Amino acid sequence: MKENSTRHYLKNREAIREKERLKRIAERQKVLDFYGAYCHCPGCKENHKEFLTIEHLNGGGRAHRKKERVKNIYTWLCRTYPNGNFPDWLTIFCYNCNCSSGHYGYCPHEKELN
Ligand SMILES: [Zn+2]
Ligand SMILES: [Zn+2]
Repeated sequence: MKENSTRHYLKNREAIREKERLKRIAERQKVLDFYGAYCHCPGCKENHKEFLTIEHLNGGGRAHRKKERVKNIYTWLCRTYPNGNFPDWLTIFCYNCNCSSGHYGYCPHEKELN
């Protein structure tokens, strides 16, 4: 009897986790669809959605996450802007461009264009 309920609990927990995983994917997709599912860094052609992430246009991504206690920016966006009208101070970059502009303040793609 006890074993049975434990198994049921575990199964249930797995189902909940799977549901949350799918929800996170759907939220991420919604955000990518809104901004355009490609890297917006000039000169970068990355459009594999797996490599894409949110870029704060004016920097301050870390401060924003801390202030709003953002654990998952996609979840945060969908909760904060339920009408799907996401803010214009965010855009989509790939991880490479996001890292470079985070660490160096620029992306080498920009330089190559000039
Ligand atoms: Zn890029
Ligand atoms: Zn770039």
